[in-house]
Amino acid sequence: MLTLPGDAVRQIQWRYSDRYDLQMLLQSARGVARTTVAQLVASGERNTHEWTPAKAAMLEAFDRAGITAAFMEPEEGGFIVGPKNLALALAAFELAWVDGGAATASLAGFLALAPIHERGTAEQAQRYMSLSAPPQPGEDRKPWRGAFVLTEPIPYVGVDTGMLSGKLRVAQWNDREEPMLLVDKRGRFITNIAFANFVTAAVNSDDERIKGSCVVILEDTDEGVFDHGTATKKLVHQLSSTGDPIFNMKVPASRIVGGYTVKGGVIVPNFSHAEVIEAVFRRTRVTVGLMTAAKLLSAIEPVIRYQRGRFRGAEGARPGTVRYEQGIQQREDALHRLVDVWAAGEAAASLGFAAARLFDELDPIEKQKTAILAEHGVTGGRAEMKALRESEKLAIESLRLRADDPRRIEIESDPLVQYVLKDAEANVLCPATKLWNTGHGANMMREAVSLMGGYGITEDCPGFLASKWMDAQLEATYEGPEAVQRRQLTITMTSEVFLAQIRIWIREMRHIATTHPGTGACALASAFEMWLWTLNHLQTATDTKGAKLYHGQRQGVTFPMADALCWLVASRAQILDTLELAAKGPFDPVAAEGLDGTVQFLSDLCHVQAAAAAGEVSRISAELVFGYRAHPGWNEQGCSLCFTSVELDELEQTMPGISAIAVDTIGIEGTHPDKAGPCAGCTGVTDFLRLQNRLAGCLSGSRLAKDRAAETVSKVMIPEALDYPA
Ligand SMILES: Cc1cc2nc3c(=O)[nH]c(=O)nc-3n(C[C@H](O)[C@H](O)[C@H](O)COP(=O)(O)OP(=O)(O)OC[C@H]3O[C@@H](n4cnc5c(N)ncnc54)[C@H](O)[C@@H]3O)c2cc1C
Repeated sequence: MLTLPGDAVRQIQWRYSDRYDLQMLLQSARGVARTTVAQLVASGERNTHEWTPAKAAMLEAFDRAGITAAFMEPEEGGFIVGPKNLALALAAFELAWVDGGAATASLAGFLALAPIHERGTAEQAQRYMSLSAPPQPGEDRKPWRGAFVLTEPIPYVGVDTGMLSGKLRVAQWNDREEPMLLVDKRGRFITNIAFANFVTAAVNSDDERIKGSCVVILEDTDEGVFDHGTATKKLVHQLSSTGDPIFNMKVPASRIVGGYTVKGGVIVPNFSHAEVIEAVFRRTRVTVGLMTAAKLLSAIEPVIRYQRGRFRGAEGARPGTVRYEQGIQQREDALHRLVDVWAAGEAAASLGFAAARLFDELDPIEKQKTAILAEHGVTGGRAEMKALRESEKLAIESLRLRADDPRRIEIESDPLVQYVLKDAEANVLCPATKLWNTGHGANMMREAVSLMGGYGITEDCPGFLASKWMDAQLEATYEGPEAVQRRQLTITMTSEVFLAQIRIWIREMRHIATTHPGTGACALASAFEMWLWTLNHLQTATDTKGAKLYHGQRQGVTFPMADALCWLVASRAQILDTLELAAKGPFDPVAAEGLDGTVQFLSDLCHVQAAAAAGEVSRISAELVFGYRAHPGWNEQGCSLCFTSVELDELEQTMPGISAIAVDTIGIEGTHPDKAGPCAGCTGVTDFLRLQNRLAGCLSGSRLAKDRAAETVSKVMIPEALDYPA
């Protein structure tokens, strides 16, 4: 590979080479990121918690660049037709390449609008989208800015979104008039709040004339208190505004997101706050995960530059010498660690963009599903779930058939089956992206920072790497920290439809391995098999007290299994993107240049990452399979299967050599080898050991791939100067 992968390569990998609208959006987001945003960071705007005119100007730059309008439909002032998950993901990726806070400032506006977009009435959508759209040329108005208000002061809403203290009461309800509602809500850590014109706030009924919970829209000119609150003293994302607002306001009931009906004198919101939030977060969390992926990939170029130039200027390091030309890159460890960061960044980006594309596919099918079910009188979460059971059975049946089987084609032409299949996958990929990209990404950002030595933890570090490291931790926290994603995964990854899909993926990876053995696809298939075996085992296994292992309350079992799965799905996405490049690259004149080298390098990164994923799965599975079994001791029970030295002497007569095989021999006076007890047996888990043995062998070649990738990293050309100012 001669140069760093450019746009032509990324467009093919992340599948937007035929989307001119997205390419334009990406370019304009990049323009703002690498000028306005980079200058704000370089000039120290991150050093204040306050919302400053310069930060406000950044939002206007977003408006001018079309980033704000990317969320809207064309009739609302937008320019992208159809689903926008990939579009928003690409814009956020570009902004986060320079600064996570800038990306968040743009995303938070979308997050405020998302409840209205996903579940709002047509009137609500029209009003708030149009008001929030940037002004058209010649139009004299400022766009509205919004904030999403879920989190509340401790001890209320955080991870547990069910514990709401925000209250909704009827203020006034005259005959034949629309009810007026009283909203009492305090927010904690609310993004965009310093300048928000409206908020979407989650509240619970505190009135017998209102049922359940809902999300309400509050405008800053509504009657009552709309207190923007004090600024949060953040250590991260300082280019976005965060604060703790207080609301005590009177609003018409038409502000309930998604509307309401009146039944028996009670206002019944059409959607509970939980239903609205679920629809919102399952999309927006993907974008957050991509922000951390951008950070990892953005770190590559500054680190290479630093490593190469490390000794230039020193006596003895003259141009042409290895010390001058290669600097720290003479050393294998420096290269290998950078390869690890790069491989993780590739996998994170591939996973995140795969999830964003999946939601683009899912959005229209989901609408179709809702319409079909509504035609049959089925509405609402539980009723829908029940009605889709038959489609789930069909989906599982179809996944057992060959791709060209007419029965499979017939089953999968049913939109409800299509929905079930995509939904099952999306329910895993979204939390996996949020959890793995941000959590593991934050760890890998530390690695990137460490590669810059002392420079890495200074404000002068090119690429703002230390800020990105810390920012990654916020990305792991907001919109639900890791426990929330793990909790969700423990449920969605055990769906029968998803497990059937995994079996297909195992076959898919084995098949890829026949044509592209250097990608690590075979090792990944073996790791997927081990994960499946372990999950099956844990679902029936018990601990020494007879308590079930795979259980909702037993996070020590379920959460590590969720973590392990994330490694696998990320690695799979990375391999699929590399294959896409290999297949389509030759037809793109720009990507085709030096393509073989690029594909080779990216395949090597896939191999490195697949080996790392396999290692994680093997470690986690072994701990869970064996960790809940008691280790035998040197007691009667533990020694029951051991030979005594006397027995061995006798056996030696008929079976010469047996003494050499017996490891846990008990001596005449009860003496035994110096260790914890007789070695643990493998009753019931021999298949696991067989899988583990196989997996170890599957790692063959992965370190050769790492060596090759390291060699490329030591030679790849980088631009003369960083792509934005330090
Ligand atoms: C800069 C910033 C911007 C934000 N922007 C917004 C915004 O715009 N709107 C908004 O509504 N909110 C916002 N938030 C709030 C954010 O979403 C919450 O902080 C986040 O969801 C975590 O909640 P918490 O802080 O209460 O953490 P906690 O719930 O106290 O979690 C603390 C730790 O305990 C773990 N934990 C908690 N519960 C469990 C459990 N059941 N099982 C296992 N482990 C558990 C968590 O994983 C975490 O590690 C923002 C936060 C920050 C810092």
